[in-house]
Amino acid sequence: LDVIRAVEPRVADAIGQEIADQREMLKLIASENYASPATLLAMGNWFSDKYAEGTVGRRFYAGCRNVDTVEALAAEHARELFGARHAYVQPHSGIDANLVAFWAVLAQRVEAPALELAGVRNVNDLSDADWAELRQAFGNQRMLGMSLDAGGHLTHGFRPNISGKMFDQRSYGTDPQTGLVDYEALRATARDFKPLIIVAGYSAYPRLVNFRIMREIADEVGATLMVDMAHFAGLVAGKVLTGDFDPVPHAQIVTTTTHKSLRGPRGGMVLCDDSLADQVDRGCPMVLGGPLPHVMAAKAVALAEARRPEFRDYAQSVVDNARALAEGLTRRGATLVTGGTDNHLNLIDVATSYELTGRQAENALLDSGIVTNRNSIPSDPNGAWYTSGIRIGTPALTTRGLGAAEMDEVAGLIDRVLTAAEAGTTSKGAPSKAQHVLDEKISDEVSARASDL
Ligand code: PLP
Repeated sequence: LDVIRAVEPRVADAIGQEIADQREMLKLIASENYASPATLLAMGNWFSDKYAEGTVGRRFYAGCRNVDTVEALAAEHARELFGARHAYVQPHSGIDANLVAFWAVLAQRVEAPALELAGVRNVNDLSDADWAELRQAFGNQRMLGMSLDAGGHLTHGFRPNISGKMFDQRSYGTDPQTGLVDYEALRATARDFKPLIIVAGYSAYPRLVNFRIMREIADEVGATLMVDMAHFAGLVAGKVLTGDFDPVPHAQIVTTTTHKSLRGPRGGMVLCDDSLADQVDRGCPMVLGGPLPHVMAAKAVALAEARRPEFRDYAQSVVDNARALAEGLTRRGATLVTGGTDNHLNLIDVATSYELTGRQAENALLDSGIVTNRNSIPSDPNGAWYTSGIRIGTPALTTRGLGAAEMDEVAGLIDRVLTAAEAGTTSKGAPSKAQHVLDEKISDEVSARASDL
């Protein structure tokens, strides 16, 4: 830090404060973790200075032999870890990985047949009329993804994201009674809508998805199955999710982030079968900027760590801890979406349980040293901004070594804060969905205990 402080002390201070915050507060954001020192060190070095557009052995720049080494290693670890035919480790984030996947499926299913029909190999050789037709075809494709309030992600075809502007989208949701994915309703929608791509995967669904059934439905309607396993990649890597619940044997293309339950550097990755490998490898410069060699080096390190037997214990503990947290909260009277969890996250319905919006609950917990995020719940009465849910995940606290007994205590701390917190009023005295009131004594006591844990 002294080296940084000599140049810009405010950055050194912010880094120091971030380390302190991450140590003192309870990090329950389901998408966050603590990468290992080896992973962090692999990222902070001279690889950052290197340009390396293209892929291993086929670069647009000279002098890439060391980048080739780390990119090939990261891809090899990814293939071995997940049992995938092909791995592309360049995406800078989960959203970028999804863009690469969309491009690859469009290239395979729309562009390649158009080139074949026109009898040319390259888009530059298409006549103006054929080119206009191809561009129209690109804009007329359909995607079926999980609805946002059921736990889907913005990139799964929603209007505020480019995927919703590229694709004509429909959503599948969950059964209002059980809160679980309704596969028969999904099948009916797929038959009617006939999407090019069915996207499975979620950001806030506390149960498992059966990818065998999803592939069956995709095959029935001629869709490509894409699974975004960003949230649960660590559980797949750690062999907690196997068989029908492991997306890799079932989906033609799988995307992920590397920094959530997988515990690597901030970044993304695409796994696919042989038929999509060439298109996926053209991700940069098709839709991605130049690769980040320092992050690929860190991905290689983190994936090597995930191949060790200890990682399986870690992944199992993440799920055990999420279950312990669910039990602790339920015992204290909290209502959880779907009644519990089978994975790394829980969704507390704070409107029903504590008469708070997600925003109020998030802020009351933050005041008390507990970092979470507000989240929509199915058919959320408070909308996507204020929400009625709080999402809590266990990957980070499990990395810090907390177990089931501590999870019960964490459940108690959360319940204490949310029971004591009340909805506040606006400056004009009207009821507010954003403001909360919480006795400082309680937030101080909980913060102190959170810091000790
Ligand atoms: N996909 C899913 C399912 C996610 O939950 C997220 C992030 O939360 C992303 C993609 C995007 O990842 P990133 O923030 O790395 O772009």
